[in-house]
This record gives sequence, structure tokens and C-alpha cells, in this order.
Amino acid sequence: MKQATSKLEHYFIPKQHVRSKVLQLASSCTGACSEAAALEALGLPYLISGASEKNGKFAAIFNHNFQVDHLWETMKEQVSERPCQLFGCKGLGSCSMRNELDIWVMGTPCPPFSEQNVSRKKPGAVEGHALYSVTFTDALAAICSGHKAYLLEQVPGFNKPYDSDSSETPLDRFIGKVNFMGETGKIKGNAKYWNVVIEQNLDLWIKMKRKRIYVFFLRTDVYSYEDCRRLKGMVEELTSKIKNDFDPKSIGELLLPAGDPYREAALKELEEKRVVDRDAPNQEWQKQDRSLRKEFGVSDDYNPWTSRPDFTGLGLSKTPRVKSILDGTVIRILNGQRTSRRTLKNHLKEKYVDVSQSLKRKSFSDAHGFARTQTTSTILYSFDQDRVVVGREMLLLQGHSRNFRIPPGVKDTVVKELAGEGMAVPCVGLLLWCLFWTRRFP
Ligand SMILES: [Zn+2]
Repeated sequence: MKQATSKLEHYFIPKQHVRSKVLQLASSCTGACSEAAALEALGLPYLISGASEKNGKFAAIFNHNFQVDHLWETMKEQVSERPCQLFGCKGLGSCSMRNELDIWVMGTPCPPFSEQNVSRKKPGAVEGHALYSVTFTDALAAICSGHKAYLLEQVPGFNKPYDSDSSETPLDRFIGKVNFMGETGKIKGNAKYWNVVIEQNLDLWIKMKRKRIYVFFLRTDVYSYEDCRRLKGMVEELTSKIKNDFDPKSIGELLLPAGDPYREAALKELEEKRVVDRDAPNQEWQKQDRSLRKEFGVSDDYNPWTSRPDFTGLGLSKTPRVKSILDGTVIRILNGQRTSRRTLKNHLKEKYVDVSQSLKRKSFSDAHGFARTQTTSTILYSFDQDRVVVGREMLLLQGHSRNFRIPPGVKDTVVKELAGEGMAVPCVGLLLWCLFWTRRFP
């Protein structure tokens, strides 16, 4: 994020000190609270009036890093102002975010909309998903509380039709519902909202793809239509300037150095719990392994990566399936060509593969060194360093700072899950920064 901020400063921070009032922020599906991390990096003062996070371990990590007035388990509780879980709130009849919020940031669950979900296009699959209501009930209820601005983050699948028989997308429906609530006086204070839809990708900042859709809802008595156009224009201009003038950071630059005590402990933890038993025979991965070898004309016992005497795969469960992914990826990257060990290493510089995915998914870095997006299940392996990228590093790859604190006793695998769910800090930072410059949070 430091680099992110300096890029932004380069274009937007005037020479004199930037002054902002203290922002009233709320957060839902908070995770590592990338929005607060971004505001901090940008030097915009804020107070978190309330947050909600269903995963108790994530909530504890969040609470360890940020001050919050109220912390609920679910967005539903947050919206209905039920007593929260904070110790200081014990015995209170209700917990409410007293002040009017400048912005409420929500990264609602993406599984119902994600195109990675194999049944995504089946009629009824999206609406039938257990987590659908967090967006279509709870997030809408949050907007009904009529605060000045909201920012919703979703996966690109949010803007894809519900199914092959329909042209309506969940994004269309969501915006339609917000408009309808406004027109029919369902929102507190008879508020109405403009919407601004913006796409951002982490690969602008870091060599990892993570395309997301962001939707601002801006209250019409606070922001004008012209403000919305200015906001969108500013985001587009800044995005293209950054794209033209700066290279994204490589993953290698962001990883923890060898000897870093956290990194070593996390790798040791993984080594100790790694699975040593064999995968069952005749599984899908074996079919994929055979077909890849056929495609590139190499024999079944050609294992260019894992047969090297110095291969360690630190932190990996070195099952036949995982080894097949490493060797299969190398075979694919080298197009089936055999090569000396030194050239092999050169070809694999800044190459990463997610071994939680199948060979067929081709979840490895592209020719320009951009890795695939991380998910909660990602196990990212670095060919350069012959090891797994640990959870704390995954947080750094989402743009969090090295100062982000992990409470003692929290397993690194929990941190990895947290990173996989989170919003990218520089992406949300760029958006909040542009919103700030639109009207300086009136
Ligand atoms: Zn409370």
C-alpha cells in the first residue's frame, strides 16, 4: 500500500497537507477491513462506527488491528442494531451506529455470483444459494438506513446474467431494487441514491489478477449527478495514468525475506501438518495428468520439477496430485521442451501456481508474470523459492501493510483464508480517494 499511496500522491495530493474531517465509516463482511487499511495509508482520518464479521477468527484479527465502536457477527444484526459482541457493550439493550455515516463499505459473499461456481448458470442457482440473501436482503436493508454513501464490492459474475434464459444480471436487479426502494419511500428520510459502477483490478498495482466490480450508492441530496460523473471520470483517469506510468509490483518483491521469523514458523506449521498419504487411484487429476502428457508428447515418468534432487516444496503436501500439478505446469510452461536445470530456473522466474486447483484450470502465472487471483482455498507455490506462499504474505499481496498485526496463537492458515476473502487495499483505496476528491465527504 505504501507504493500505492505514493502513486496516488504523485497525481492527487496537493503540496499542502490534505485536510479531511474525520470520516464516519461502517463496514460489513469486514474481514481484514481493507477499507480502513486504505484510509490509513491515504492519511484520511476515520472512525469505524460499526462492523460485522461472521467468522469469529477474522473478527478477532480485525479487532486486534482496528478500533471499532460496535462489532456484530452478522450484517443482519448490524442493520437491526442488536446488542453487539464487544465486551463494553455487554448488558446494553441495543447497539447502534449513532452518527450518520459518510460511507458504509460492504464486501458481501461472492459464492452465489462467482463464475467459478460450476452451477452458476443453472436456472435458480444464484437465487437458491444460501448466501444470496446477504446481498439481496441484508445489504439492501443496510441501504434502507439512508446513510450518505455505500460501496459494494462483488465479483465480475455479479454482472453476468442469472442464467442462459435471462439477460438480467444480479447487478441490474440490485440497482433496480435500490431505485425502487427510493421511489417508494422505503429508505429512511425518503432518501434516493445515484449509482456509479466501476471495475477495478488488483493487477494495476500488484502482479496478481483480481477483477472486481464496485458499486457506489451516493445519496442524491448530498451528491449531484455531476459529482457522480466527476467521480467516475477521476477513477478512470487515475487508473489509466497509473497503468501507463507505473509497473505493478512483482509478487517476489512483496514476499517476506528468508529468515523472517513469522514466515519460518508458518512454513514449519505447514510442514508438520502436511499430508503424506497417497491420493486414491483413478481420480480426475490422473486423467488430466495423462492427457497433458499426451498433449506435449512426454512420458509418464518425466517429472522435470519434482525429480530434481534439490526439490523440497517446503510447506506443500507432496501428494502425487500436487506433484503432478507442479510437473504438469512446468511441462506446459516449457511447451514440453527438455532443458538444462539452469534454463529451467530462468523459465520459472516469478512463476507461481495454485496447487489447490486442477491442472485443467491452468492456475499459474501468465507469460507476463501475473498470477491468478487468490481464493480462500488457494495454496500458492513459488517456483523461484520452491515453497508455499504463507498466509501473511497473501495479505501483503492484497495490499496490506507489513504492520498488520496477527494476534498470537492465530494459525497462518486462518490468515490465508482471511486474505483470500478480502478486498484489495489499493483498489478500494483508489475509489475512496477519488470519492474524497469529489466532494471531500460533505
Ligand atoms: Zn456494541
